[in-house]
Amino acid sequence: MPMNGPVLHQSYAAAVPELSVPWQAEAAPHPELAWLNEDLAAELGYDADHLRSAEGLALLSGRLDGQGRPLPAGADAPVHPFTTAQAYAGHQFGSANPQLGDGRAVLLGDLVDTLGRRRDLHLKGAGATPFARAGDGKAPLGPMLREAVVGESLHALGIPTTRALAVLTTGEQIAPRQGVTAEPGAMLVRVAASHLRVGTFEHATWHHDLEVRRALAEHTISRHHPAAGEAANPPLALLEAVMRGQAELVAQWMLVGFVHGVMNTDNMALSGEGIDYGPCAFLDVHRGGAVFSSIDRGGRYAYANQPGIALWNLSRFAETLLELLDEEDPNAAVEQATAVLEGFEQHVLDAHTRGLAAKLGIPWAADSHEAGPPAERAAAIRALGTDLFALLEEQGIDHTGFFRALTDADPAALCTDPAAFEAWHARLLALRGTGARADAAREAMACTNPVHIPRNVHLEAALRAAHLGDLAPVRTLLDAVRRPFAHREEHAHLDGPGDGGEHFMTFCGT
Ligand code: AMP
Ligand code: MG
Ligand code: MG
Repeated sequence: MPMNGPVLHQSYAAAVPELSVPWQAEAAPHPELAWLNEDLAAELGYDADHLRSAEGLALLSGRLDGQGRPLPAGADAPVHPFTTAQAYAGHQFGSANPQLGDGRAVLLGDLVDTLGRRRDLHLKGAGATPFARAGDGKAPLGPMLREAVVGESLHALGIPTTRALAVLTTGEQIAPRQGVTAEPGAMLVRVAASHLRVGTFEHATWHHDLEVRRALAEHTISRHHPAAGEAANPPLALLEAVMRGQAELVAQWMLVGFVHGVMNTDNMALSGEGIDYGPCAFLDVHRGGAVFSSIDRGGRYAYANQPGIALWNLSRFAETLLELLDEEDPNAAVEQATAVLEGFEQHVLDAHTRGLAAKLGIPWAADSHEAGPPAERAAAIRALGTDLFALLEEQGIDHTGFFRALTDADPAALCTDPAAFEAWHARLLALRGTGARADAAREAMACTNPVHIPRNVHLEAALRAAHLGDLAPVRTLLDAVRRPFAHREEHAHLDGPGDGGEHFMTFCGT
């Protein structure tokens, strides 16, 4: 590893130059690290101490020369910037918006990490770009820390996600997003498998000719789903691969009680990672209709709607591929795409059932001679889950707290009607059975059901403290959610059901 870390490229701009513009981040008056993700830095091939140096801060705050190397202090920004702002479009709350794009972010570049994976480094809060529309290009500290905490939590729970490499304060106060007090300005350095979104394909479809879409599809396939390139119909195989990734992702969100909050098509990555955590939250009390975003008045992105919305977004993605699927016969293209999308529901169900079995300590295969459970067994697990979620909702029980109590405490103590729980529990015990596999499944629950998620009350309190200049609580919370399965004395105040879940709202104007 060179002392200064991996070489940055602009692979995306090289593959599809029509879909981004060279753009230089605005110089922050006084950039300082609020949090550095040392593990992730090492994984990318950066030395954490180097990232803390003046040269490291130049990199993290987007001060790069025309070749993507950190600029020396006081140097002028390059005439031909290396960094880029990406164009995209999207459906926001169901309505098409032909012009979105990185309004306040630049792609610093992509690199190959120490595990051989290509990753994007993206800087959010980098000042207004040509895609800023009416926005000021700025980001407040609270939402950038929130995105970092949520990304670390999901990652630690084994769920594909973008992550924060660092959160920086810029040294300026920015216009309030809500209320009247100015807020500390911040930047987030985001690491992602890529920033290719459904909205990227929508932009290419609405503003460019078929060749651009073809190049974009080829780039997406080679970057994320290389096997699709070998298929008889590569764009169809791409749709199938993206469909499977989304099914897996959304099933995992449902299992941990995560509500993304803004599943617009521009916020759905084609890599299968969750991306762009604004007004998102984890359930406290289990509620199918849970909405935490103050702008989602219709509940479009409510907890229980997420699988349906993912399919809706995939349909918008499929539409952008139709001409590539079959240039001559539009009806044949629609039929092919529809057949792929029809598989979505089953994929979500399978992923959800498998994950649920793990959370409940039910061995997936009942004995060593079975490759998987017979259909009736899967159906029984599914029915048990449906009844459990109804029970949690009826009795107002905490989602995360229930599964952890089932792991190492007494869930009946959480119930207002313990008899209903006991009846359900008897069915669970029958499905678990006995023997070595059953024992192993029970033991594995302790590394499946978290003690720590970023609970709304604790996250809000930590962000309030950060706003007032005290970063200690958010660092403690990060520490807790990054090791989510361990009960630890110093984090005891952060576990257990929080209150305030019912009426908790996050503000979207990040
Ligand atoms: P989001 O809701 O975070 O997915 O953002 C939707 C769109 O608004 C994207 O195109 C963002 O780049 C843009 N945007 C959000 N906040 C700002 C801001 N403060 N300045 C400029 N653009 C913004
Ligand atoms: Mg977005
Ligand atoms: Mg956002």
